[in-house]
Amino acid sequence: MNNKLYGNLIFELSQEGRCGYSLPKNRFGNYEIPVSMRRKEDAQLPECDEMTVVRHYTNLSANNFGVDNGFYPLGSCTMKYNPKINEEMAALPQFQNLHPLQPAETVKGAEAVCTLLCRSLCELTGLHAFTLKPFAGAHGELTGLMVIKRYHESRGDMQRTKVIVPDSAHGTNPASAAVCGFDILEVKSTPEGLVSLEDLENIVAQEKDTIAAMMMTNPNTLGLFERQIPAIEKIIHEAGGLMYYDGANLNPMLGAARPGDMGFDVMHINLHKTFSTPHGGGGPGAGPVGVRKGLETFFPEVSPYHGNFAVAIRAYAYILSLGREHIKEVGPLATLNANYIKEQLKDVYELPIEGLCKHEFVFDGLTDKSTGVTTMDVAKRLLDYGYHAPTIYFPLLFHESLMIEPTENESKETIDGFIAVMRQIAQEAKDTPDMVKSAPHNTPIGRVDDVLAAKHPVTTYRQLISPQS
Ligand SMILES: *Cc1c(COP(=O)(O)O)cnc(C)c1O
Repeated sequence: MNNKLYGNLIFELSQEGRCGYSLPKNRFGNYEIPVSMRRKEDAQLPECDEMTVVRHYTNLSANNFGVDNGFYPLGSCTMKYNPKINEEMAALPQFQNLHPLQPAETVKGAEAVCTLLCRSLCELTGLHAFTLKPFAGAHGELTGLMVIKRYHESRGDMQRTKVIVPDSAHGTNPASAAVCGFDILEVKSTPEGLVSLEDLENIVAQEKDTIAAMMMTNPNTLGLFERQIPAIEKIIHEAGGLMYYDGANLNPMLGAARPGDMGFDVMHINLHKTFSTPHGGGGPGAGPVGVRKGLETFFPEVSPYHGNFAVAIRAYAYILSLGREHIKEVGPLATLNANYIKEQLKDVYELPIEGLCKHEFVFDGLTDKSTGVTTMDVAKRLLDYGYHAPTIYFPLLFHESLMIEPTENESKETIDGFIAVMRQIAQEAKDTPDMVKSAPHNTPIGRVDDVLAAKHPVTTYRQLISPQS
């Protein structure tokens, strides 16, 4: 794309007096807007012809990257393919033109989608009831923790103010617990990357009846199955706490194992990860919360109406299109793909924890640290080859985390292509480290300053042209 010709901003293409349309003749006479309500000055709008506008936005859209453009192995985010049938279903006028205040008897079909989706989620998780109201994973965590709080309060257990969170947890876990008014107790990981039972026992012995819940992600953020869940669940339940399952990434578990059967009481699911609805700039999410029987009376009102209903339609379309039989293949395939990549790359990228992973795994940078090429440099260089970068510098357990999640949909050819490029970059790090350290070289914008935008945000166009004004 030629940025000069098409402009970075539509305002830069504006030509005074240029008009992209002509209005039909006024057939209704003149109605004067009261002077007090009129603008003092003209609105500052760009003046462009239609073709310029179309080219500008079409070219901008071509700079975007999504799962429909290429491989997107963003660990923990489950950037799986969004099947087009989901979009067709969500776009049906019978759904799209609904109004939330329509009489209930006119929305039976939409209600059925919600009911049947909840029923499917119960079946897939082994829990008793779901609410579709939460708008995202973190919102689901908050909702689930509110359930837990109300449960303890209903029993007069007011002193249960603490939530145990593993040090490997997604940052939203301690954040949600804090927003819900809980204090956080961090439990350490073992060198194998699993919750330390010893540390947990110590914490519970000390804190006993102040424990409201333990939050667990399984497989955890290292992509490892928490094999000690039966023991952990026993410790927490005996202490009177509830077990919370962060099921944002339920992908590897689909059809393989159910949180309800593992002894969890409350969980959330990200429809925008496991159930293939778009996310990451691609649309709103949904974080349904499921509970064990008896806890459904504590569901709070966390959104108006039925949450993000259009997301629920997509997720239900996904579940139906796979069906009972094929949904069982999701977890095993996602797991196979992740292990294949890990094994093919572990001689050139440092694998801190050996053994089988689930849907994702973490490298600790390149094996050869002498080149000075960091995880950030590898991630930037991948962009030159047309790949989205993996998640970097998370989890915080390692210095050079590079977290790869391929999802189940990718063909062997795509995955082999990615492996070849990752090996190529490892070689470039040895041969031409400076080139890798200054990547990307083929993208419309080169290496950006990661913190400038956070420290000096420029949020208006005017400020962009003259910061002083
Ligand atoms: C993505 C994710 C979340 C948060 O989900 P959002 O929809 O981004 O709020 C929570 N926990 C884990 C493990 C996740 O991967």
